[in-house]
Amino acid sequence: METLPGEEGLNILRRLIAYAEKIFQFSGIVVAGVMDLRRQPRIPTSCVVQSVAALFWARMGSLNALELAADSSFFRRWLGHPVCSADGVGRVTALMDGAGLRRGIHHLYDRLKRNKALPDQAGWGVAVLDGHESHASYRRHCPGCLERTIHTGQTERIQYYHRQVTLMLLPAARPGCAGVRFLLDLEPQRAGEDEVATALRLLVRAMGSYPRAFDLVLADALYATAPFFNFLLARGKHVMTVLKDERRNLYQDAAALFASFPPAEGSFRRRNCLWWDLQDLLSWPQVARQDKLGIIPDTEYLPLFRVPDYSASTCFLSGRA
Ligand SMILES: [Zn+2]
Repeated sequence: METLPGEEGLNILRRLIAYAEKIFQFSGIVVAGVMDLRRQPRIPTSCVVQSVAALFWARMGSLNALELAADSSFFRRWLGHPVCSADGVGRVTALMDGAGLRRGIHHLYDRLKRNKALPDQAGWGVAVLDGHESHASYRRHCPGCLERTIHTGQTERIQYYHRQVTLMLLPAARPGCAGVRFLLDLEPQRAGEDEVATALRLLVRAMGSYPRAFDLVLADALYATAPFFNFLLARGKHVMTVLKDERRNLYQDAAALFASFPPAEGSFRRRNCLWWDLQDLLSWPQVARQDKLGIIPDTEYLPLFRVPDYSASTCFLSGRA
C-alpha cells in the first residue's frame, strides 16, 4: 500500500488498533512513554508516534503517503490531532528518546511473554544478531553517518549511510500461526568500529534488560570471532555462528574431523545431508574455553535453523555454555 489504505484496509487497521489498545494498552503505556527533545512542542509526541505506527501497520510506503492521509477523519479521530507534515514527522522522530521507545518494547515483550506468545524452540530461547543498512545517500548526511568511497568508472564519491545491529527473538511458531519475530533492541554502528563491537555494546544493554529472554545467540560468519564467543560463554549463553573457511585452522581441524568420524544422515529442505557433531576443537586458542567449542549442526540443533539465511551446506561453529 503506497498511499492511503482503502475502506477494507482501514477496517483492518481499526481492528489492529483496537487489539493493540486492549492487549498492550498501546497509547496509554507504549506511546505515552515516548518523549522527544523539543523545548516547546506544538505537535504532541504521541501524535507522531501513533502516526508512524499507523504508517507501518498500513504499510504506507513513505512519510509522504502518511501526509496524504492527513485529511482522513479516521486519523483525526484516532490521533486527536491532524497528521503533521512529512518533514514534521521526520524531524520529531529524529529527536525522540530511545530509552522511552525501549521501555515500550519491553512492555510489549512482557505482555507477549505473559500471554505465552513467545514459546521457546525445543527448550531454547533463541535470539539472532544481524547488521542492517537502513539508508544511503551521496548528498544528505548527519553527524551519525558512516562514510565509504564508491568507485564508479574513473570517479570516486563519498557515500553516507547508517548501519544498525539488531537483536531479534526467534520464538517457536504456535500451532497454526507463523512464528513471531520480535525485535528486542538495536544499536547503531559508530564510525571506526566493526559490526561485532557494535553487537557487543548491544548485548551488554539487552542482557541487562532481558537477562532470561534467550539462551542461544545465532549470528553469521562475521561473528566467528574470539571476543564474541568469549563474551557470551562467560555470561552463560550458548552461541552459534556460521563457519566459513576464512578461519583456516579451525576449518581444517573440522575437515580432518569430518574425515575421521562417521556422520549422521539426515535431510534438510528436501535435500539429503550429512551431519557431524564435533566437540573439543583445539585450534582456536584465543577462545578462553576451547573445550566448549563444537562444529554442528546435528539433529539436536537442526530445528532451530529454519531461517532463510542458513543452508544445508553451512557449517556452524557452536559454543556451549
Ligand atoms: Zn546520518
